[in-house]
Formats: sequence, C-alpha cells, structure tokens
Amino acid sequence: MLTVEEALDAILSHVSVLGTERVDVVGALGRVLAEPIVSRREIPPWPNSSMDGYAVRAADAGRGAALTVVGRVEAGGLPARVVGRGEAMRIFTGAPLPEGADTVVPQEDVDASDDRIALRGPLERAAYVRRRGEDVRVGDRVLEPGTVITAAEIGLLATLGHGQVPVYRRPRVAILSTGNELADLGTEPGPGQIPNSNTYTLMAQVLEAGGDPASLGVARDRLESIEERVRAARDADMLVSSAGVSVGELDLVREALTRAGAELHLWKVSMRPGKPITFGSLASRPVFGLPGNPVSAMVTFELFVRPALLKLSGRRRLTRPRVRVRALEAVPNPGSRRGYLRVQLEQTADGLGARLTGEQGSAILRSMVAADGLAVVPPDSVVAAGAALEIIQLRELP
Ligand code: AMP
Ligand code: MG
Repeated sequence: MLTVEEALDAILSHVSVLGTERVDVVGALGRVLAEPIVSRREIPPWPNSSMDGYAVRAADAGRGAALTVVGRVEAGGLPARVVGRGEAMRIFTGAPLPEGADTVVPQEDVDASDDRIALRGPLERAAYVRRRGEDVRVGDRVLEPGTVITAAEIGLLATLGHGQVPVYRRPRVAILSTGNELADLGTEPGPGQIPNSNTYTLMAQVLEAGGDPASLGVARDRLESIEERVRAARDADMLVSSAGVSVGELDLVREALTRAGAELHLWKVSMRPGKPITFGSLASRPVFGLPGNPVSAMVTFELFVRPALLKLSGRRRLTRPRVRVRALEAVPNPGSRRGYLRVQLEQTADGLGARLTGEQGSAILRSMVAADGLAVVPPDSVVAAGAALEIIQLRELP
C-alpha cells in the first residue's frame, strides 16, 4: 500500500496550474497573484512631511533660532517658493517639502507669533521628512506570482496604480455523493436512510481552500447513475466524489469513473481514517474518489484534495502548517496504518498541548467539529502522555 507521501507526490504529479484572468483589485482578495508586480512608480513620489509643522533648513535652525515664515503648503498643493536662509514654511502632513528645506519641525515644538517662529529645541536633520522612494523604487519587484493576496497587497497594488490584477482562475470543483441510503437536505430521511452530509462538508472545504464548488447531487449505487453524473461534470476543473470506493459489490465508483473515461492512478493509502481513497485523471483533470465515512472524507480531502486544489490555483505552499506539541494524555494508534487523530489544542504552562477530541470512529463528525488539528501517529504505537506529538494544524492556534 502507498504511504501518504507517495500518494501525494503521485497526485501532484498529475496536477498543473490553471489559466489566469484579471479581476478588480478588491475582488483579488484571497486570490493568487499570477504575474510578478514590478513598480513603475516611486512611493512616495516626492519628499513630503509626516507632521503638521514648519519646513526648515537644519543648517540654520538650531535651538532658539527665530525664523521667518514665508508661505504655506498643504497636502494636495505645491510650495509657491523655495525656503531660504533664516526662513521657514508652514507645512501639513502629506504636503511636498519645499525646495531649500530639508527638515520639518512639528508645530508643537515651536513658539509661533505672526509670521515668526522660535524653535524650542535642537533639530535632527531630515526629521519628519518622508524620502522620495523610501517605500518603493521604480523597478522594484514588490510581489511574486503565487502570493495569496491580502489587504496589505491590495493597498500596495492600488498605490502602484493597478485597478485590475492578474490572478489564477479559481478551480471549479464538482462534488458528487453516492449511496442508496442517502437522503439529501430538504428530505426527511426515511427508514434505512441517512442524511447526506459529505456534499456539504466537501463544498465548504473547497470554498475554504479558495475553490468554487458545485454539487452534482446524489448518485445511486448503480454504474449508470454514477457514470451519468460524472459525465455531467464536464465543465469542472476537478471532480470529488465520496463513498463507494471500498471492496463491496455496491462500491462502483471506480468502475463508473473508468467507464466515463477516467484513468485511475492510485487506490488505497496506508492511513487511518481514509484508506480506500482513489485518484485518477479524466480528460487531464484530477478526479478523486474519497471514502464515504464523513471523517474519512474530510481527512482525505485535507491530505490530498486540498494540496491538489492549491496547486491548480497557483499557490506555492500546498500543505498546512505543522506544529510539535506535548501530548496531554496517551494517544494510542493500534493497527498497521498511520493514524491522523483528531485533537484539540490547549495552551498550558509548558506551552501548547493536545488531547484527543473523543471517540475517533470515522463516522463521528462531532469529534471533527472539536478538532483544531490532526495528530500524526505512527502505526502500532502509543504516544505517551508528556511526549511530543506532531500536529497538522487545521485552525488558528488557541
Ligand atoms: P461506503 O464507502 O459507500 O461504504 O460508505 C461508508 C459509510 O459512509 C457508510 O456508512 C455510508 O452510509 C456513509 N456515507 C456515504 N456517503 C455519505 C454522505 N454523502 N454523507 C454521509 N455519510 C455518507
Ligand atoms: Mg456506499
């Protein structure tokens, strides 16, 4: 059986980044930049004042100096003249520094009367002056492709005049649930039926990862039913189905995918939960057959689908952060497959600790709700209380 790392490598080798589009700068929030951004501007474009005060010449403005105020310059205006020896100009935050001046004295540091000011203390040359280009120079490569755009990048892009931004396309992900027992939202489950939850968790996981999900509904456990829905996913960049990938005679997803034209690359990974995961390509687009149990579907999404989706989206970093914490209780993983166990993180006097969220059955969604992360535990082992535990971090640290 493949290890998780082997499976992920194989999956990523079949995934390549999507095309690009241009979007409005604010619409680029959370999107992935597709081209480097090289500045054609100096920021700031000219030296300007960072305070309300007086523009002066440091050389002739020592402590106690009296200067003549020869004019005034506001933000948005231009100085009408230069500042000569013994002179000062009234200036406001963001206004261009007049020629001749090299320093700004804040208004609270002078005694002003009529058109004269007296300095209360010594000056530091260039104080309260923002230099031309101190933030960005022409030709600076300020953003790299693959950057996830946040509010700060949006500010920088606007400063540099980009009303539109080149980003990678958001992957469209088709989600299919399969199973005769499934009653979808809006229908009360009848005898022998259970509610369909996977469609909704998987759509949400796609959204969280920056993708654009669309539901293909629920297919019955019949080859034609599954195949027909798989074929309906023609416009999607990726297909994710759940259930029907084990070895029972009603597990028909693999055969249905093949009939729809998919080439299957792998099946079964040594992990718990999630072993029967399937991956292939359909018209060069990635297709996943995730196991049906709700936690198995979520965990295999995390470990395999999410990195593939991030790669499609042009992201550079494909995996979640990992943290090492202390086990606050014994964490057993009986059985021959590596465990991905749901844990809650907790700040303790000795740093971050983790404890299991409860029952680890692969159908127990509530222990997933409580989970801040997944503890990676080797097969046939117990991590003792107090020992180090490696966690895949799913949420912000507490
Ligand atoms: P299967 O892989 O088809 O044997 O399904 C494994 C388990 O997952 C069964 O108990 C199914 O009822 C359950 N299951 C399958 N699909 C879903 C779904 N969409 N929502 C909730 N549970 C599901
Ligand atoms: Mg089934």
